[in-house]
Amino acid sequence: MSLSYSVSPTISIRYAFPSRKITASPVHSLCSQTQPSLRCAVLGAGFAGLSVVWHLLKNSPKRLDLKIDLYDEVGIGGGASGIAGGLLHPYSPKVKLLWEGAQCWNESINLLKIAEEVANSRKCKVGESSENIETFFGHKRGILRPAMDIKNLTKLNDNVQTCLPSCRIETLNTEEVQNLVPGLRLPLGTAFFMPEAFNIHSQHYLQALFGACENLVKESSTFGSGHRQLSFHKRSVSRLLEFEGEYDAVIICIGAKVNMLPEISGRLPLRTCRGVILHMELPDNIGEGYPDRGPSILSDAWIAVQGPRSLHV
Ligand SMILES: Cc1cc2nc3c(=O)[nH]c(=O)nc-3n(C[C@H](O)[C@H](O)[C@H](O)COP(=O)(O)OP(=O)(O)OC[C@H]3O[C@@H](n4cnc5c(N)ncnc54)[C@H](O)[C@@H]3O)c2cc1C
Repeated sequence: MSLSYSVSPTISIRYAFPSRKITASPVHSLCSQTQPSLRCAVLGAGFAGLSVVWHLLKNSPKRLDLKIDLYDEVGIGGGASGIAGGLLHPYSPKVKLLWEGAQCWNESINLLKIAEEVANSRKCKVGESSENIETFFGHKRGILRPAMDIKNLTKLNDNVQTCLPSCRIETLNTEEVQNLVPGLRLPLGTAFFMPEAFNIHSQHYLQALFGACENLVKESSTFGSGHRQLSFHKRSVSRLLEFEGEYDAVIICIGAKVNMLPEISGRLPLRTCRGVILHMELPDNIGEGYPDRGPSILSDAWIAVQGPRSLHV
């Protein structure tokens, strides 16, 4: 058995069965006369699982016959990803650049563009305007981080020094903040604003990314390269041994439930945390919505703006 895992914003683990020899690997097979092939199972269709599927389809050698089975017990976005607030930035809540934050930020923007293109083309096909793509996908008005006490202010001021040029952090005073969100109170008269950060509508993004994966499969058949296949199975997987002999690799992206697989349980230093989300919709009889230029807000709790009349808290 081999285990390798990468912790980007989410975790994915690759599991190789002990009985299958590496001679089946695509790199080795490419050198031989036979058509190389790879069969993969991806468990979990959240941010991690769909990103893995997209990268496998996009980056595998062109000649490879690639069969991917995607399993999720609930459906696309059935776990934390589907209900997440969708706040997207490369920093900790104290605006410290995260480990591999720059790479994660670039990758996330890239995947988002790909998903947006799919959503755009589908809307055009059914004759809808693509002008509303922003409300479909998320709210691109930046994220504001108010300083809450002196210790917090000092820490935030320090952390700001390491911000990325592609996701800047500006220091704003009360007046500047009032222009963005009238009536917002700042305990210390200072807030940190990330104009390039935003929040996505997680379900819309995931559905569109799955569509992008399906498109990659279709494109590969047009260009006459190796055969590509992607199948979605709405099914719970209770142990990895169910798949023994069936796949060359099983990639595990089942989020907080990873410790429920007996083969993984207790082997990784993981700590889970619980999140609760509240979706607030402004009733039609209340006139004034969230300000047009108003950013989302990140603090001990957060407000993810989904539109002028819809907030996640
Ligand atoms: C309320 C809340 C708000 C959040 N807000 C944000 C935010 O604003 N910004 C941010 O960056 N992060 C946020 N997060 C964190 C973020 O949502 C998670 O880090 C991320 O979704 C994890 O993605 P994942 O793909 O690893 O796991 P998941 O999204 O949990 O995906 C795992 C998938 O595996 C499936 N699955 C599980 N067990 C099995 C099984 N045995 N067999 C088959 N399928 C299975 C599940 O149905 C699920 O679809 C939030 C989390 C919560 C709970």
